[in-house]
Amino acid sequence: MSLARKPKGFMFDLDGTLILSNRSLGNYDAIPGAAEALAELDRLGIPWIALTNGSAYAARVQAPRLRAAGVPVPDDKLFTPNSVAAKVIKDGGYQRVLVLGTQGVVDALTELGVTCYSPAEGADAECDAVYVAWHPDCTMPHLHLACERVLAGAAFLSASDVPFFATKEGRSFGYSCAINGAIARVTGVEPQTTGKPSATAMAVVAEALGIAAEDVGVVGDDATAEMLMARQGGAIGIAVTSGSTSADEWASQPPEKTPHLVIGNIGELVAACGLG
Ligand SMILES: [Mg+2]
Repeated sequence: MSLARKPKGFMFDLDGTLILSNRSLGNYDAIPGAAEALAELDRLGIPWIALTNGSAYAARVQAPRLRAAGVPVPDDKLFTPNSVAAKVIKDGGYQRVLVLGTQGVVDALTELGVTCYSPAEGADAECDAVYVAWHPDCTMPHLHLACERVLAGAAFLSASDVPFFATKEGRSFGYSCAINGAIARVTGVEPQTTGKPSATAMAVVAEALGIAAEDVGVVGDDATAEMLMARQGGAIGIAVTSGSTSADEWASQPPEKTPHLVIGNIGELVAACGLG
């Protein structure tokens, strides 16, 4: 398998592609070859960014943790669903957002100029959007409040609707996906996701790289997150087997989630794409 055209820039997933964390997101290990691949792209002058569907931390908090683990991602090259959500919230003209997420999620959005409420603060407050993100402490009152707001007409946004992500302890499930399911079941309203595989996320990636979407190599370990985004966005999907999807599983994807190229891990990327 080889690529019909060479990417002019890259978007990297984090979990399963550049790093593996533990389930509580407390510590990270670099995937072998990650630092060398990023350094090689820098040497070649090929632009790259990282876009995680993890929303637990602001980029300025998470990027230093990646660097401490040996993955040299500058703050300004790390994007999260919160970055994309802030743009969606501003573009949509939403004034007050009920956030089902950790303090890290609230901090990230607040820094980006969004007025947020937590369920505890927002029980009596009006809001015109609900944003569901990394929220390990979700309770039934939180779900109740979110459902009431969505039924009253608030927009329903979510960082991620992808069911699983890769960790050192194996496959873990995305809390926002589970919460989205509960709210959607009750309200009949499906969330607009701001992370991968949304078209909004793809547009933010291409803009950040300064290239057309069709020239972006979208590198990741998840069929629904990265490969679906690449296929829907007309980009180049490059799958790795270092995360939650095996080579056999990549070989049996439906066309809309089929990678253009499958490699073992990020360390093989530059050579496999015919660069350098
Ligand atoms: Mg991943």
